[in-house]
Amino acid sequence: MSKMAVFIEMKAGKLKQASLEVVQVLSMQGEVHAIGLGAGFEAFAATLSDYGAKGIHQIEGPELEHYTAENFTAALVPFLKTLQPDWMAGAHTSMGADLLPHLAAHLDWGYCADVTTFEAGPQPTFRRPQYSGKATAQVTFSGPMVVSFRPNSLGLKPPTKATPVLVTKHAATQGAGKVKFVQLIEGQSTRPDVTEANVVISGGRSMKSAENFKILEELADVVGAAVGASRAAVDAGLRPHRDQVGQTGKVVAPSLYVACGISGAIQHLAGMRTSKTIVAINTNPDEPIFQVADIGVVGDLFQIIPLLTTELKKLK
Ligand SMILES: Cc1cc2nc3c(=O)[nH]c(=O)nc-3n(C[C@H](O)[C@H](O)[C@H](O)COP(=O)(O)OP(=O)(O)OC[C@H]3O[C@@H](n4cnc5c(N)ncnc54)[C@H](O)[C@@H]3O)c2cc1C
Repeated sequence: MSKMAVFIEMKAGKLKQASLEVVQVLSMQGEVHAIGLGAGFEAFAATLSDYGAKGIHQIEGPELEHYTAENFTAALVPFLKTLQPDWMAGAHTSMGADLLPHLAAHLDWGYCADVTTFEAGPQPTFRRPQYSGKATAQVTFSGPMVVSFRPNSLGLKPPTKATPVLVTKHAATQGAGKVKFVQLIEGQSTRPDVTEANVVISGGRSMKSAENFKILEELADVVGAAVGASRAAVDAGLRPHRDQVGQTGKVVAPSLYVACGISGAIQHLAGMRTSKTIVAINTNPDEPIFQVADIGVVGDLFQIIPLLTTELKKLK
């Protein structure tokens, strides 16, 4: 039975689903201690208990109101040295991918990034894609380690009602570091982020104009999806970079990924090939995207997408 600490992310007063996935999966391995930084974390005690947390800790301090890797690490390191977990984990979100290796370096622990499969047991085993998904590394470890899990790859099951665990509050002891929070500039989009959505509908260069992405947005609205893009579409100015999926964009693992007019270059596949079901719509049946697709539709996306939207609206 392991004792594990899990870093929990909050955004706009909500818990990140990716953090809950980590808590739930690791609760099969042993005693999970959920750690939240900043005020307001205690509001999630019941939810975290239902997902399997056995300890809930809130670290408070004025410097923790806004995220910086330096201040969060400074608050976590002394706390973890006292808690003494066997290992530490979190979600491989933008924040997790920034914070967790920083933390591992300061603790002098190992770091295993972007894990997609976990096997509980006396010797926990982690698998992570490498070389743009062409190989998979199997990782085990003996000493303490920090592990980040790719959002959506573990899967979230319905929670089980549990008696809420009492929240333990701790004051941050290190104070503010040299890095200063200045301003948060939020994106305008009201859609889910591509890394968190259960369904992602992406368009490529073939969308031709930013205006044409409206047909993907209409379909996305019907199914509650995020809209992603290939780098060619982003480079052409059709979508902002935050929507880019791939090696130099975001890595996604939704239940359903729909690639519309995307050829399937290796750098794009690196960002989406661990999606559970992949649908490709493309006029050219010889494109590599069809090699990873579960369902391939050969045809013009400008005809297929509006038809699909109309039919799905009828089903609703
Ligand atoms: C270092 C490096 C990093 C990179 N990082 C990324 C990355 O993070 N993400 C990424 O996506 N790419 C990345 N790339 C670029 C990548 O190599 C490809 O150039 C890019 O993915 C191609 O985008 P695309 O599929 O939209 O365009 P194209 O390759 O031009 O494909 C367009 C596709 O649309 C189809 N099509 C045309 N008209 C229609 C229609 N009406 N209906 C249906 N289908 C149609 C065509 O058959 C074709 O398959 C990177 C490249 C490098 C070198």
